[in-house]
Amino acid sequence: MSVMEMAAKTKFADLTFDQKLDRLAEVAVQVGLGLRAGQELIMSAPLEAAPLVRRITEHAYKAGALLVTTFYSDDPSVLARYEYAADASFDYAPTWLHDAIAAGFRSGAARLAIAGANPALLAKQDPARVARANVAASKAGKPAMELITRHEINWTIVACATPEWAKLVFPGEPENVAVAKLWDAIFVSSRVAVEDPVQEWREHGARLKKRMDMLNTKRFSALHFKGPGTDLTVGLADEHLWAGGGTAAGNGIYCQPNIPTEECFTTPHKDRVNGTVRASKPLSHQGTLIENIAVRFENGRIVEATATAGEDVLNRLISTDDGGRRLGEVALVPHSSPIAQSGVLFWNTLFDENAASHIALGQAYSTCIIGGEKMDAEQLAAVGANASLIHVDWMIGSGEMDVDGVTADGASEPLMRKGEWV
Ligand code: ZN
Ligand code: ZN
Repeated sequence: MSVMEMAAKTKFADLTFDQKLDRLAEVAVQVGLGLRAGQELIMSAPLEAAPLVRRITEHAYKAGALLVTTFYSDDPSVLARYEYAADASFDYAPTWLHDAIAAGFRSGAARLAIAGANPALLAKQDPARVARANVAASKAGKPAMELITRHEINWTIVACATPEWAKLVFPGEPENVAVAKLWDAIFVSSRVAVEDPVQEWREHGARLKKRMDMLNTKRFSALHFKGPGTDLTVGLADEHLWAGGGTAAGNGIYCQPNIPTEECFTTPHKDRVNGTVRASKPLSHQGTLIENIAVRFENGRIVEATATAGEDVLNRLISTDDGGRRLGEVALVPHSSPIAQSGVLFWNTLFDENAASHIALGQAYSTCIIGGEKMDAEQLAAVGANASLIHVDWMIGSGEMDVDGVTADGASEPLMRKGEWV
């Protein structure tokens, strides 16, 4: 069934576009953030997302938001920097702004990010400059990002169809058709194209939780992935904890950090990953596209990395720091997820990572370690949790992937066959 057919099966199709947008906004505030009365909201969005931002702002104030503040980004202004800025610009990031946002989070604000920037925006720019700008932004953003990765605050990400993104996803279509198609794909994938999206999310969250509880009961010591070009053993961190669906943030508020979300994920052991793995989908990273990634791991470290496009970007990325060559996340997603079934390649990790089982290079989530929130960097490293400035997910699962759970005594048990839960 195509995305269009799935949308057409429900009354959702009869709504006006504004009503559909309003549904997504409601899900973002009610389900994604679980926004509390009296809570401040800090939002970031591309300029083209203003209509969605306004809907979200309305729902936030109806939910009792203290104040909603939005930071807009603009793709052509980003490109102007690459064209005209002095070289020193690429090692600079506004630490003062990131610090202020971190202060906002610490004083109780929730965070909502709207994805929608052109995934190929920086594809033609100097990879060295792109990498430098990313490192500067990651360093400056660390205090705010840590509050997010440690789930100390309630946060979520939702998507907005924008013309440049839509043209990349649906090449050859006129702009208005491409945008409409991308919106449909976003509504279906985000599970808002149903009669009662808030109830749908409640049920979907419960299903993810059941799977997560099963994996946490099993306490596997490793996962073994086998598929075309892939024979990979991912050892799991000693005190690993599986997560999926909603999270109770440190501030006590229950949120769905990603809309959509289809994954159960945990922390690999940074020194216990061995074998070869081939990506099953292209990776869109900070404006560049990396295709046909193939890597080999030895004792947790990538020792060989190739790609048919963007290989230079890939090698710079994994060279960011020592942790950039190691895994910080492993996630299981069935091939029957609505995103995989849509057959759409979104060129956006928020969607594509929920279409397939995946691994992430770089920073591990301390919330995926038992007691991890209270551990310092040394303690986290001791149980095998990786540390890095980067966290980049890439897709390895497909309808041809088998996954086994391996127990401490070496026995293995089938978890997925041909991409589906056993
Ligand atoms: Zn993930
Ligand atoms: Zn991830």
